[in-house]
Amino acid sequence: MEKQGKIRVRIAPSPTGSLHIGTARTALFNWLFARKNGGEFILRIEDTDLERSDKKYEENIIEGLKWLGINWDGLIYHQSERLDVYEKYLKQLLDSGKAFWCYHTAEELEAEKTVQMKRKEPPRHICGYKTQNSIRSIRQLAEADKTQNQEKGIIRLAVDENSTRVVHFNDAIRGQIEWEEKLIGDFSLAKDLRTPLYNFAVVVDDTDMEITHVIRGEDHISNTPKQILIYEALGRELPVFAHLPLILGNDKSKLSKRHGATSVMEYKKDYLPEALINFMGFLGFTYDKEIINKEEMAEEFDLAKVHKSGAVFDVKKLNWLNSQYIKRLAPSEFKNLTDLKVSDAVIPLITERLEKLSDVNNFEYFWKTPEYDKELLIWKGFSLDKIKESLELTLNTFGQREWIQQEALRKYLDAEAEQLGDRGLIYWPLRAALTGQEKSPDPVEIAAVLGKDEVIKRINTAIDKLSV
Ligand code: GLU
Repeated sequence: MEKQGKIRVRIAPSPTGSLHIGTARTALFNWLFARKNGGEFILRIEDTDLERSDKKYEENIIEGLKWLGINWDGLIYHQSERLDVYEKYLKQLLDSGKAFWCYHTAEELEAEKTVQMKRKEPPRHICGYKTQNSIRSIRQLAEADKTQNQEKGIIRLAVDENSTRVVHFNDAIRGQIEWEEKLIGDFSLAKDLRTPLYNFAVVVDDTDMEITHVIRGEDHISNTPKQILIYEALGRELPVFAHLPLILGNDKSKLSKRHGATSVMEYKKDYLPEALINFMGFLGFTYDKEIINKEEMAEEFDLAKVHKSGAVFDVKKLNWLNSQYIKRLAPSEFKNLTDLKVSDAVIPLITERLEKLSDVNNFEYFWKTPEYDKELLIWKGFSLDKIKESLELTLNTFGQREWIQQEALRKYLDAEAEQLGDRGLIYWPLRAALTGQEKSPDPVEIAAVLGKDEVIKRINTAIDKLSV
């Protein structure tokens, strides 16, 4: 494909926190869009905020994307390595008068805001350093002030506060979005020539990197009109914008720590990456089938079909999906993931019932002698003697016979149950003796994988407990 027509998208996380579920979902949708259209997907670390950025978060973001299998094309870009580029464009905008230095103090800006709030106007800065002077004299002023004042000043884009224009864009997901230019204000581009701020750096990078589609969270809609003005000031063509719906907690408020883990790597101990990908794919899109991998998602993906309303993060659905993926694991894969040292025959008994990987410890009776109180052995108010009698019968069945097929074992136990007139009286104490738990897979299946010697040992232990 020739370069000009090439689709190119990006994910541009700021390393000011761990990889968030929302960012991972945005990454996935960008990846899907690129894959569907034979385009490129770029990873750009937006690390210009030196105070809040941290390498450890960058590493976490990269680790998370890799774990999820969301691969990017080419090298990772860092805004911190592109300061010369931003400086070049800032100078260009300053020289042309499209940007200017503003020297208002924080107090002055605050006072302006207070007045605007009182008048029920949107807070914005309408800067005298732009309006009281002609463009030429601003430049002279700026030049003259540079030496003493530049440290206090910041660079803003000159925006016409009397404009009657409506800044608009056609969002690929939400349709037409409009903003009155006069309400935008002279917003900041950079703290100084070497310290660009988000809106400016993002536009410089997106144009320089020939990003064709900016696909990101809904929370960035309000930045878009500002960014459009920067594109125009730089004389660059606009990309297509597409704003993905917010991710909501169960109570329909924006997903936050209150709702549970929001950082991707916190999911690793419990979830398979394929399950999380499958789940995230549905946060704003509906696919034809429920269990779907990202390559299949890409085939169906279409920006125009992305939902507009918030996507609820339903942990129950995630758990269900995870259980489906766990079931499909080969015993060796499961053992690798959980570090279990048990026979392969045990694995299906666990994976058939597991929603979260860390719950594998609920099955530790497969590899550890269970510990429990003798009360657990008692079925529905039957006497200790009756329970003992039941276990002795079972011991007899398991002990005296050849270690036979599961189904045959079950028949003998069923016959005993009939003899005692209560199924629970046979199966409850047996389950408790084998697992030390109230709930477990079928005790006969457990017995089959534990093996004759171990089963007999555990039943004897139970009988001993009852005899004390
Ligand atoms: N660094 C911004 C963020 O993490 C990127 C937003 C964008 O995609 O434009 O939210």
